[in-house]
Amino acid sequence: MPRLRARLLDPASPAATTWLPDALVEIDPLGRIAAAGPWDGGPCDEDLRPGVLTPGFVDVHLHYPQTRILGSASGPLLDWLRTSTFPEETAFADPAHAASVATAFAAALAAAGTTLCQAYGSVHPAAAEALFQALADRGLRAIAGPVLMDQGAPAALLLPADRALPALEALVERWHGHDGRLQVAVIPRFALSCTPALMEGAAALARRRGLWVATHLSENPAECRETTAMFGARDYLEVYEEVGLVHDRTVLAHCIHLSPGEWDRLAAAGAVVAHCPDSNDFLGSGGMPLAELDARGVQLGLGTDVAAGRSFRVPRIASSAHDNALRQGLRPPPARWFWQATRGGALALGQAHLGSVRAGMDADLALHDLPTWVDTGDQALSWLLFHHDAPAPRRTWVRGRLVWDRQAHAAAGGVFPWDEVGERS
Ligand SMILES: [Zn+2]
Repeated sequence: MPRLRARLLDPASPAATTWLPDALVEIDPLGRIAAAGPWDGGPCDEDLRPGVLTPGFVDVHLHYPQTRILGSASGPLLDWLRTSTFPEETAFADPAHAASVATAFAAALAAAGTTLCQAYGSVHPAAAEALFQALADRGLRAIAGPVLMDQGAPAALLLPADRALPALEALVERWHGHDGRLQVAVIPRFALSCTPALMEGAAALARRRGLWVATHLSENPAECRETTAMFGARDYLEVYEEVGLVHDRTVLAHCIHLSPGEWDRLAAAGAVVAHCPDSNDFLGSGGMPLAELDARGVQLGLGTDVAAGRSFRVPRIASSAHDNALRQGLRPPPARWFWQATRGGALALGQAHLGSVRAGMDADLALHDLPTWVDTGDQALSWLLFHHDAPAPRRTWVRGRLVWDRQAHAAAGGVFPWDEVGERS
C-alpha cells in the first residue's frame, strides 16, 4: 500500500480548503485513498515535499479535435467555427489523424493534472473510437462522444440521424463503463447544427441508455438570434426542452445570454452549467452571470473549452472565473474556484467518489511544485490558481496509477505533450 508524504491542499467546501503542511496519503491496492491526514511519524514510500498534492482537476467541457487550433484568434463564435474549427474537424475523417491527435490530447490532459473530463469529438464515429482508445491507454476518466450534426456545417461534417445514432449506440456497446473510467455521452453540438429529428433521437437514446447529454447553450448573441429564428422558439432553452434534452444529466456549456425565465427552468430541470470563462473572453462572447446561477443553486463545473479556451490547465480557467466574477461585482473566495476545479466539478458530473483527497475517495491526484516559503493554505491556493507562470503539475495519478510524470517525460526527451507524445505513437 503506497504511503506518500507531501503537503496537501484539499477542497473542504466552496468556501474553505484544508491545508496540511506535512501529510501522509495511503493508497490501497484498488486505487482508493485508505487514509489521508497529518504525517504520523511512520515510514513512507516516497517523500514528495515540498510538493503539494491536490485532487486531480475536472474539466467539464472541451473539444478533442480542436487540440491543434488552440490559440486560433478568428472569433466571434460563428466566424470562429467557420474559419478555424470546421476545417480542422474535417481532417478527423482520417483515422490516422484522429488517432495521433487523440493520443496527444490525452497526454495534454494528464500533463495539465486533469483526471476527469467531458470531451466532445468530431462528428466521425471512428474519430470518437480513437479518442476512447487514447483515453483508455493513458488511464484517464472521461465522459465523451462524437458531436451530432446534420445541418449548418460543411457537408463533410454532417451525419444524418439514421447513421449517427446507430454509430453512437455501437460506441456505447464498446466503451460505456470501460474499466469504470469511461462513459459515452450524447452530444448534439448545438441547436444550429441539429435538426429537431436528430435532437429527439439523441434525447431518446440518452434516456434509454442512461447517458449524459452535453451541448452548448446561449454563448453568443448572434447565435441566440439565429437559433430562435430558425426554430421559431420563444427562447434558446426552449429548443432543447421541446426535444427532451434538458434534465439532471445535461451539461450546458456557456449559458451567458439567458433570460431570468430560462435560468429558472434550467435550475428546475437540475441541469449543470459548464462555465468556460477563458473561452468566453477569447471569443468575446460575454460573461456567464454567476449571481443568476448561484441564486438558483445551479450546479457548476469549469470547462477549458479547448480550443476556444487557451489552456488545458483548469487552474487557468479558475483564474478567469475569478476575473469574470469581479467584473460582475462579485467576490467569491478563491476557495470557491478550487472547489469548482476539483470536488465541485466531480459532483456536477455525478462522480461522488472523486474530487477530494480523503479516505474513501478514489486516488485521483496531482502533485505540484510549490516553493518552500509557501507555508499557509491561502498562499498555496494563490500559487496554484493565480500564478500563471507556475509550472504544470509534476505528476498525475488516476485511481492510484501514475498517468503522467513530467520529469520522466522530459528525461525521455519529451518537451510538450501534444507534439512529442503524438509524434511517437
Ligand atoms: Zn465548446
